[in-house]
Amino acid sequence: MSRIAFIGLGNMGAPMARNLIKAGHALTVFDIAKAAVEAAQQAGAAPSASAQACVRGAEAVISMLPESSHVEALYLGSQGLMQAIEAGTLIIDCSTIAPRSAQAVAEAARARGLDMIDAPVSGGTAGAAAGTLTFIVGGPASALDRARPILSAMGKTIFHAGGAGAGQAAKICNNMMLGIQMAGLAEALALGAASGLDPKVLSEIMSKSSGRNWALEVYNPWPGVMENVPAARGYAGGFGVDLMLKDLGLAAEAALAARASIPIGELARNLYSLHSASGAGALDFSSILRLVRREPR
Ligand code: NAD
Repeated sequence: MSRIAFIGLGNMGAPMARNLIKAGHALTVFDIAKAAVEAAQQAGAAPSASAQACVRGAEAVISMLPESSHVEALYLGSQGLMQAIEAGTLIIDCSTIAPRSAQAVAEAARARGLDMIDAPVSGGTAGAAAGTLTFIVGGPASALDRARPILSAMGKTIFHAGGAGAGQAAKICNNMMLGIQMAGLAEALALGAASGLDPKVLSEIMSKSSGRNWALEVYNPWPGVMENVPAARGYAGGFGVDLMLKDLGLAAEAALAARASIPIGELARNLYSLHSASGAGALDFSSILRLVRREPR
């Protein structure tokens, strides 16, 4: 079992850290939110007062932060964590960030002789809690092999997408599809309700028809159709509108760089942008239903 430094204990990081503790790893944790550190401490982690203190003596460092800017600031910026990480340590960044940011951190790690992988995840907060996440990894196969026992404590499926940044590139494509899917599903359910259908019955019909999809079957946005999803608790927790907006922005950047056209992805980005501007940025992304139904946030 490993001594692991875990940085970023939010909606995803907190349950991932808990699963590592359950699997017998010794965790030292850090988050800028004190309450998050205290909650992890109650689950059996050792608290740290800074990222530097957190990585001391760690065999592996895991980060789960919101955006590229946070990851770059942590490893490369004024916090200078890369210099504080000890020789031989494996770095695993699970945040969803721009491939070029992942590559910049991997390059800095390589320059110090450290192994690093980008390992963004899919499966949502429910997958994080159940330990059934999918990891989409970029980086050297040898580094991934070192990470496997750790990733296996938090997830069920591990894909090796390619070299540094490839995990992020694949994750961005997946999340563009997810954003489009949720907006389309919200529209279909709202049309059904406006046509006099019960959204629960319509969801059952669609789940056995050609309109079936992950959002419909696992993460239904209509309140009352499904238990244990953000829609059942006023869209609290889950995957924030602003995080989805960030991922659709990453898709737009990737499309520009690759000279690819993503008209539907761009439309979805604008929908989530309008929704965020109405004050919904911190709600779960399935609350896009409220925009479609023109409900106040
Ligand atoms: P979150 O906002 O709930 O958590 C982020 C945590 O990072 C917060 O606790 C925050 O205090 C902490 N933090 C920010 N800057 C920090 C710093 N410099 N040092 C230490 N801690 C810092 O976000 P989340 O939902 O847990 O998502 C994290 C990442 O995972 C994002 O990149 C997101 O796109 C991705 N993701 C989220 C989901 C989901 O369903 N929520 C699913 C897949 C991937």
